[in-house]
Amino acid sequence: MPFKNIIGHERPTRILKTALRRNSLAHAYLFYGEEGIGKRLVAKALAQAVNCAAKPLEEHLADDACGECSACLHTESETHPDFVSLEPEGTMIKIGQVRALQEQIQLKPMAGRYRFVILNEAETMNEEAANALLKVLEEPPGQTILVLITSQPHTILPTVVSRCQKIRFTPLTEQQVMMLLKQKKSCDPSQLGRVAALAMGRIGLALELDPKTLEAEWLKFSQILLGDSSGDMEELLGLAQEYAHDREATQRALQWIGLWLRDLLTIKIQSKPSFVLTGSSSPPEADELLKASTKLDVEEIMAFASLIHWIWKALARNINRQLALEVLLMQIRHTIKRAS
Ligand SMILES: [Zn+2]
Repeated sequence: MPFKNIIGHERPTRILKTALRRNSLAHAYLFYGEEGIGKRLVAKALAQAVNCAAKPLEEHLADDACGECSACLHTESETHPDFVSLEPEGTMIKIGQVRALQEQIQLKPMAGRYRFVILNEAETMNEEAANALLKVLEEPPGQTILVLITSQPHTILPTVVSRCQKIRFTPLTEQQVMMLLKQKKSCDPSQLGRVAALAMGRIGLALELDPKTLEAEWLKFSQILLGDSSGDMEELLGLAQEYAHDREATQRALQWIGLWLRDLLTIKIQSKPSFVLTGSSSPPEADELLKASTKLDVEEIMAFASLIHWIWKALARNINRQLALEVLLMQIRHTIKRAS
């Protein structure tokens, strides 16, 4: 998809288009930012732009692809001979993969102007693989562009990072997610705002899950936090376990609890509460939110928000995610119960 069709990511797109116009592309980029927000999509737009055949190969690059020529279509479907996408094999990118890549990029591009390499989840390179990649970055072969994609730039070998031009990606706004949802699938219009809010700028998540699933997931949190159901402790521990399986899931849980607290705070301090979470004044769980708001005071809500912030930062240091979620959920539950 050419840059012109991408919704959001204005800043990264502007930087790349400027480099295209000035013919000053870097050999290597590091695209970093949360998972599921569209980093790979922008990388592919760049791949299309550098190898688009709408203009003769020897002419100066345009700052965007046509999106229609055969080179663009092959890049889109990832069948272009000069397009390489490296994914982790199992849980990591291994040295064998980087060595194979090393050999491949010694050769001239086969059809386009550049060999274009995307390294997905670059943080999964083990040390050997990262060191092999470092060699490539130290003496980059001409006519090759590498894009490392990661949600965890701080876990990548600093010497690798320092040889890449870093471009930060931020989640889309709710409006942008809504626009995309409208474009991409037949989402019930009355649900658009809610799905966009629950997906929190992660278009990947919004598209992947159907509104009902997202909503069901969210309601599960809401109910367990309020603890109306029986056997709730087991449920709570089960929920912590479920959301501890990877970092992204844990972040999602933290953001949801954060949104829930934000709505509670809104109820507390506004005479006419409008719910941040849903952008509407009467989400399905409005009654429950109102009930919960009577059981937590502003200081308690702020304290939980700080705890979430602390856990979020600690995730980068590989804390025990399940334990952290359990403690957070139990503390909230306990505080609500005590007030009941
Ligand atoms: Zn084209």
